Amino acid sequence: MRRVSILGATGSIGQNTIDLIARAPDAYDVVALTGAGNIDRLAIDAIRLKADVAVTANPECLGALKDALAGSDVTAAAGPQALIEAASRPADWVMSAIVGAAGLAPGLAALEQGATLALANKESLVCAGRLVMQTATTHGGRILPVDSEHSAVFQALVGEAMEAVERIVITASGGAFRDWPIEKLAHATPAQATTHPNWAMGARITVDSASMFNKALELIETREFFGVDPDRIETVIHPESLIHALVGFRDGALMAHVGPPDMRHAIGYALHWPERQDLPVARLDLAQIGTLTFRAPDPARYPALDLARQVMARGGLAGAVFNGAKERALDAFLDGHIRFTAMAEVVARVLDRIEGQPGLMDAEMTLDNVLAADLAARAAADAEIAALAGQARTGS
Ligand code: NAD
Ligand code: MG
Repeated sequence: MRRVSILGATGSIGQNTIDLIARAPDAYDVVALTGAGNIDRLAIDAIRLKADVAVTANPECLGALKDALAGSDVTAAAGPQALIEAASRPADWVMSAIVGAAGLAPGLAALEQGATLALANKESLVCAGRLVMQTATTHGGRILPVDSEHSAVFQALVGEAMEAVERIVITASGGAFRDWPIEKLAHATPAQATTHPNWAMGARITVDSASMFNKALELIETREFFGVDPDRIETVIHPESLIHALVGFRDGALMAHVGPPDMRHAIGYALHWPERQDLPVARLDLAQIGTLTFRAPDPARYPALDLARQVMARGGLAGAVFNGAKERALDAFLDGHIRFTAMAEVVARVLDRIEGQPGLMDAEMTLDNVLAADLAARAAADAEIAALAGQARTGS
């Protein structure tokens, strides 16, 4: 039996992972499941899958979790340190599906105990790519990408030499507002931004999809995971979301990965790798689909893409600053404090501001320094958000 843990088990990726694992209960020994506020879901799945431990990130939810697990053999724990301990429990395969920079430390802990890390949490690579990749190498752990584009690239590269790769193209749906007049974007509401045209995902990544901050994170993720120069990584809008990525080789061949927009494919590929096994995803009927379309992303509509290029050129801890600022700007948009279009403004200003704080972005890439850069970025973002919200109030 393979020992598996799922970090972020109550979320969209976590639930899709559980869907696959629950189909073959005899094949898996579930070690740890983690969540945050969704205690009932966490407890139901922990009992159903006979997990050793269920952990909530929120210390104030420990009592509720204990109550929900009463009478079962599942141990309850809570808080950020308990998440790291859960990830450190010996397991063969660990799904990293916490949202945000909060997923970094638990993912590193899973790698340190030698597990194979199925990585959905792209923020880990954005904030600390080199550290994450090195940790895997040092401890003999392996990272398998779960983001659909990166899984697609990984699959297109099977049996290929990296020297033969000329470019990597990751596709983007263009998000909820891809066809809106650009001047309307400033008035987009959180409810509109959390509705995705093609994929069912967590609320945060869905908004990031509309702003293309998601694609910006993925450009950096591509660079960190595959070690390809930024000028060889492209993104193209593909509204049908059926081609997830393409790899271009030196002989001119372009290998595309085509499949339905269902994360269980990428999760299942990482679960069964290096084998392929049956997965419950729809089979495409190309004749019925008929047409696939592509267009270049408009930089004015999607300023996040250019910010990602700046971050890759800057290097150091710029990725952690970028992500921390983006997370706060996203919170502020969801809470109604800033406009949709202000998210990119906040992130750009924070990058400038932190550049002016000597040493922060050039510190050595350790977990402590990455978390310090993340915190500094969040504080700087809060200051920018307060200034913008003040301007909005006074109408200036
Ligand atoms: P989600 O919001 O649906 O779920 C997030 C999970 O993280 C939940 O279990 C939640 O309880 C937990 N969580 C939230 N805040 C936490 C904190 N501070 N500490 C610990 N746990 C916390 O998110 P999702 O859509 O499943 O995405 C998870 C990750 O996978 C993200 O990094 C996202 O970018 C990435 N991803 C998601 C998809 C998708 O289709 N949903 C696709 C590609 C990549
Ligand atoms: Mg993706």
